[in-house]
Amino acid sequence: MEPKTEELAGGTEAPINKGIAPNRVGQGSPQVVEALIQAGRKLSTGLKPDELPARILEHLAAVVPYERGSLLLQEGETLRIAAQRGFPEDDRVGSLSIPLREGDVYYQIATSVQPVLVDDVTQAPGWQQVEWLPLNLSWLGVPLFSKDRVAGMVSLTRRESGAFSPEDVLLASTFAMQASVALENALLYEEITRFNQQLEQMVQQRTEELRQALQTLERMDKNKSDFINVAAHELRTPLTVMRGYLGMVQADAAIRGNPYLVQALEGILKGSQRLHEIVNSMLDLARIENQMLEVRPEVVALSTIAKRVQADYSGFLAERKQEMQLVDLEGLPVIRGDATLLLKVFQNVVINAIKYTPDGGDITISGRLVQDEQLGKCVEILVQDTGIGIDPEHHELIFEKLYSTGEVALHSSGKASFKGGGPGLGLTIARGIVEAHGGRIWADSARHDEESCPGSRFHILLPVGTR
Ligand code: ADP
Repeated sequence: MEPKTEELAGGTEAPINKGIAPNRVGQGSPQVVEALIQAGRKLSTGLKPDELPARILEHLAAVVPYERGSLLLQEGETLRIAAQRGFPEDDRVGSLSIPLREGDVYYQIATSVQPVLVDDVTQAPGWQQVEWLPLNLSWLGVPLFSKDRVAGMVSLTRRESGAFSPEDVLLASTFAMQASVALENALLYEEITRFNQQLEQMVQQRTEELRQALQTLERMDKNKSDFINVAAHELRTPLTVMRGYLGMVQADAAIRGNPYLVQALEGILKGSQRLHEIVNSMLDLARIENQMLEVRPEVVALSTIAKRVQADYSGFLAERKQEMQLVDLEGLPVIRGDATLLLKVFQNVVINAIKYTPDGGDITISGRLVQDEQLGKCVEILVQDTGIGIDPEHHELIFEKLYSTGEVALHSSGKASFKGGGPGLGLTIARGIVEAHGGRIWADSARHDEESCPGSRFHILLPVGTR
């Protein structure tokens, strides 16, 4: 059976609401006023929400003496006891909770937003006493507020009838105001603390998710490297054997005399040459990743390398009806670098410019001397095309190994055919080589658009006089 709680919440019929008689208040002694001020100060000093109700009752006793007091907070349709003072030792005290009923004292307090004073509970119509509590005749209930609405009350009793004066009512109400502010602050603080904890938990969870994602990415990246490494080494031997036999067959007089077989053989040779280049690229990448790339520095004129690429790719340029200009390269200072490796950088960047530019487009290789904040004096080579361009979100991704923005289905065997695609190793190798020279390489393009062809520009920054 539910405990009777009428002392705390009042009877079914409204008891007397005496209100506050203005002509009898305002005569608090200086000590009481001081106690009120002190209590307000102490309550506002960062108490935890669970210890605050007991402290409120404790400080209230110094302002308005009472024999039994309780602090009740509204939770949905019930009032829950948050603290008590002067109650008998009884297990039932802790579980006191009062269903809200229309007409009871709390209902009155909540609707009138006023304290309620009962001088003699035995005279109050409908008042029922909790039978296990000693009968106290005087009862005073004052509202507690939260966000401008009544959120609970402080219930005080005294043994004698008429024991609470209107001054007590005023003091208790004033005190309850301060207590409400303290309760609200403590609850807010708790809410913020809880929110912070939740946030921290979320951050930890996300960090863990990111850590796992990073681990997966690292594993995938290693798988890619392992695949390239193993495939390159496994393909190299049979390819070398094939190329050896092809050489022998090519030299055979019987074949040389048959134009059909000569043509077929040329096709096989071209294919094996392309395969050879891809395997070599895979081996280059494996060397870069294992930090086994050997840079053999010598004096290099980048204009010579550019001219060599132009000459090597003249066939592709003619095939694609593209023009290649070399601009401002002659006056550039020489640098120290590995000419063979730097040639690969130029080849990889220029072949892309050819591939991703429509027939009839222009490719310009230019150079300038720049002062870089980190690298100091550098030669900057710019490879500009009038091609399909690259979306800014791909500018870095294209340097990832095996990364390709095009569709694999469009990859063709032609090394220079429009949007021909490739294994996605060229720029990764170019970056590896440039970085091994202490330089930087990056892409620059407004967008990818196959209609308007905004073009791309690759920057290759190589320090002068290093390595
Ligand atoms: P691939 O073997 O696919 O050419 P790369 O590493 O050389 O590999 O290039 C990666 C990707 O970068 C290409 O698939 C292409 O989508 C893009 N790309 C590179 N250069 C250009 C360019 N000049 N214009 C447009 N896209 C380019």
